[in-house]
Amino acid sequence: MRGYHVGGRSIMWGRQSYRWSPMDFEANAKDGIAIDWPVRYNEIAPWYDYVETFAGISGQVENLPQLPDSKFLPPMELNCVEKVLKDSMFEKFKRTLTIGRVAHVTSPIGDSPDRGTCQYRNLCIRGCPYGAYFSSNASTLPAAERTGNMTLRPNSIVYELIYDDQKKKATGVKVMDAETGEQIEYYARVIFLCASTMGSTFIMMNSTSDRFPNGFGNDSGELGCNIMDHHLGVGASGQYDGFEDNYYYGRRPNGFYIPRYRNLGKEKRDYLRGFGYQGGGSRQSWSRMIAEMSIGASLKEEVTQPGPWRLGMGGFGEVLPAHDNRVTLNTEKKDKHGLPTLTFDTEFKANDYNMRKDMASDAAEMLDAAGFKNISTYDDPGGLGLGIHEMGTARMGKDPKTSVLNKWNQVHACKNVFVTDGSFMTSAACQNPSLTYMAFTARAVDYAVSEIKKQNL
Ligand SMILES: Cc1cc2nc3c(=O)[nH]c(=O)nc-3n(C[C@H](O)[C@H](O)[C@H](O)COP(=O)(O)OP(=O)(O)OC[C@H]3O[C@@H](n4cnc5c(N)ncnc54)[C@H](O)[C@@H]3O)c2cc1C
Repeated sequence: MRGYHVGGRSIMWGRQSYRWSPMDFEANAKDGIAIDWPVRYNEIAPWYDYVETFAGISGQVENLPQLPDSKFLPPMELNCVEKVLKDSMFEKFKRTLTIGRVAHVTSPIGDSPDRGTCQYRNLCIRGCPYGAYFSSNASTLPAAERTGNMTLRPNSIVYELIYDDQKKKATGVKVMDAETGEQIEYYARVIFLCASTMGSTFIMMNSTSDRFPNGFGNDSGELGCNIMDHHLGVGASGQYDGFEDNYYYGRRPNGFYIPRYRNLGKEKRDYLRGFGYQGGGSRQSWSRMIAEMSIGASLKEEVTQPGPWRLGMGGFGEVLPAHDNRVTLNTEKKDKHGLPTLTFDTEFKANDYNMRKDMASDAAEMLDAAGFKNISTYDDPGGLGLGIHEMGTARMGKDPKTSVLNKWNQVHACKNVFVTDGSFMTSAACQNPSLTYMAFTARAVDYAVSEIKKQNL
C-alpha cells in the first residue's frame, strides 16, 4: 500500500476503508453515464468479507444501504464535539455521522502473527512497529513470505509486457534495474499488473506490438481515458464553546465519516451522485497563541491549557467518468531512465462544480444547526489527481468494444493478463477506493487459480 516521501516528509495512506453499495455498481446504468459495471454488489460482497478479515477494519455497524457495513473490529470512539454533531445531524437532518472505518487492528486478529493492536500513539507516519495498521510491509509481504513462494526484487521497473503473436498470449515482462540500468526479462504463465492506476496504464501504453499498435489490450481505444478521482478541498470548520473540562487519553489515529446522503431515493439535486465527509474535532494546541504575539507569565499560563474545541469536515465528491479526461504516452519527453512519460489532459466538469456548492453549504449548515460558532467554509477545487484516488484508465465492462477488461479484471484481448489496481474502475463512487481494489484483486486471483486448474490459462 502506497506511501510517499515528499519534500522530506513521509506521506502515507489514510487507512480509511469503506465498502461500495449496490447502488454504486448500478449508478452508471441507471443514469446512462459511460458504461455499466459488469459486476454487482452481491458478487463482490464475499470478497469484501475476505479482505476485511485479512486487513482488519475497525468501525461501527450502521445498517445503511448506501454504505454497507464491513466485517468490523471494535470501533474507535467519537469525542464530545463529534457526538454533539452526530446527535444534531440525526435529529435535524436524519443524516448519519459515524467513526471513521480504518484499516487498524483494534483487537487481535487470529491468523496474523506479525500484527499487534493499535496503541493509539498516532505515530503511524513513522511506520507502525506493531504492524497495527494495514500496509504491505506489515501484512501482505510477510504473508507472502510465509508461503515460501515469494521472490522480491527491489529497484525493478517493469516497462513492457512481452506479447507472443503466435501463442496470442503475454509471455512475460521486461524489467529495468533502476540503479544499474540492466534490462532483464521475466517469463510467466499469468501476469498481474497492479502497479497503481497510472503505473499499470503506463506499462500497457508502452507495450506496443503488431497485434496491439495502440497499447496493450487497447482494441477499444479506452486505455488511458475516463480518468476519475474524488474531488475534495471543500468543506467547513467551526468552534464549539464548552467541554473545557474534557480531556482524552491517547491520540486517535482516525476521524469521523459522514456517509453520502444526497441524491438517495427520490431527491434530485442539480448534479448526479453525491459526496461524503471526513473530519475531526480537537482542542486547539499551544500554537494558537503565536498569532497573539503575547509575552510573559500570562502567555506561559495560557499555553499550558488546551484551547477551545474546533471541528472541521471536508467533502469527498464523486467524479463522473468522461472519455476526454485522459492520459497519453509522451515518447518525446523521457524520464531519467530514458522511458517515455505520461501527459495528462483532464478537467472537472459542471457536475463537479454544482456538487461542490452543496459540499460547502451543507457542511456549514450542519455545523450551525449543532451550535458551532465562527463557522467558515472553503472551496479550492485544484485539479483531478489531488484526491490521490486516480481510477478508470483501463475500465472493466461487458463489451470489448467499449472496455479494456472483463468482469474478472482480465484483459479482454489477452486472457492471461489481469489488471487489478484502480485503473479497472468503471465509476468512482465517493468512498475511498482501496478496499474495493483489494476485494477485486482477491477475486481475480481466485478466478485465475481456478482457470489455471481448468487448463484455461
Ligand atoms: C496520502 C495518501 C492518502 C491516502 N489515503 C487513502 C485512504 O484513506 N483510503 C483509501 O482507500 N485510499 C487512500 N489512498 C489511496 C491509496 O493509497 C491507493 O488507492 C492505493 O495505494 C493503491 O494501491 P495499489 O497497490 O494499486 O498502488 P500502490 O500502493 O501505489 O502500489 C503500486 C506499487 O507498484 C510499484 N510500481 C509502480 N510502477 C511500477 C513499475 N513500472 N514497475 C514495477 N513496480 C511499479 C510502486 O512502486 C508501488 O510499490 C491514499 C493515497 C495517498 C497518497
